[in-house]
Amino acid sequence: MKKKRDYYEILGVPRNATPEEIKKAYRRLAIKYHPDKNPDNKEEAEEKFKEISEAYEVLIDPEKRRIYDQYGHEGLQGVFKQGDFTWQDFTHVDDLRDIFREFGINFDFGGGFFDFLNDIFGGPSRRRGGYGVTHHGPQKGEDIRIKIPLTLEEIAKGATKTVRLERFEVCNACGGTGSKSGKVQTCPTCGGTGVVRKVSRTFFGQFVQTSTCPTCHGEGVVVTDPCPVCHGTGRVKKRVELKIGFPRGIHEGQSVVLRGEGHAGYKGGPHGDLYAVVVQKLHDRFKRDGDDLYTEVPISFSKAALGGDIVLKDILGETAKIHIPPGTNSHTTFRVRGKGMPRLNGGRGDLFVKVIIKVPKKLTPEMKALIEKLAEYEENGKVGHEESVFEKIKNAFR
Ligand SMILES: [Zn+2]
Ligand SMILES: [Zn+2]
Repeated sequence: MKKKRDYYEILGVPRNATPEEIKKAYRRLAIKYHPDKNPDNKEEAEEKFKEISEAYEVLIDPEKRRIYDQYGHEGLQGVFKQGDFTWQDFTHVDDLRDIFREFGINFDFGGGFFDFLNDIFGGPSRRRGGYGVTHHGPQKGEDIRIKIPLTLEEIAKGATKTVRLERFEVCNACGGTGSKSGKVQTCPTCGGTGVVRKVSRTFFGQFVQTSTCPTCHGEGVVVTDPCPVCHGTGRVKKRVELKIGFPRGIHEGQSVVLRGEGHAGYKGGPHGDLYAVVVQKLHDRFKRDGDDLYTEVPISFSKAALGGDIVLKDILGETAKIHIPPGTNSHTTFRVRGKGMPRLNGGRGDLFVKVIIKVPKKLTPEMKALIEKLAEYEENGKVGHEESVFEKIKNAFR
């Protein structure tokens, strides 16, 4: 065993150094010996890194520092777990984390020292789930998402749609095992664990890395006589027809969930679910905003001038009546309560009707004579001081 250097010397601090000075020195050296900064002499940097960490571990701890000051390296043999310093003795991972964060090395910390190491070296972390037998035993099938276009009328009344789709079903030939004989064998590569181990050297020392078994893909078992129907997968694609009911008042983007109508599970696991997502088709007469509907209705200028009722069909085909008061301008909006979209939880939104005065393109001689008469009235100023209905009509077109 080579002779150990003095801890104060390693960190380059005086024997009466304060904890702040020790911390500062360690930070500076940790950055200096980071392996990324020393790609050409990585091994030496690793050794240095361990050496400064050992010195820091002792000098930053008042009790360990006291023992070292009094008895030297020998005094610490009972302090370190294996007599000599190993990374398991390092208790200042938090400081190291802070230092590395300044480097821009991001990692979350939460699962103990070895998780921290694994995070640095990209190995598996227990916290993240790691590797292992991931598909062992029954597993739920995947969900299916489909988009269903619905007209406003269908949404207003509620609708049932028939859809045809392809999904995985359990293979009847092998009962879902994937094996012709119905038997599976323990994977010879991983011995059924689903993982393989590889020893790798890092600058913290030697580490065992685990990865998913390439033979069984983490299943732990292999099929030696694959089912010819499903090629060993245990599932086959089939076309199915389903009826999906949509409640009245459902909104764009909302979905109806059919539990257990997704893909078949693995090894006898349950089916996934089916999500039918509503896509609202454009309507030629109505625009929807929440539970309210908006529409435009043409009216004649005589009705706008004289007033009267207009009647229209709402989204359910029911009659909606609007009273137009005399002297109504074009683009005036009227609100009809309770004639909008049916709401999911009962009741209905409102209907907003914008009236648009339409000027006739073709005039009969009789109509032309009447309008000329009207124009004459306006030009002779016979309409008095108050704005007449005729001026209101004119204004409506400004
Ligand atoms: Zn395996
Ligand atoms: Zn099969």
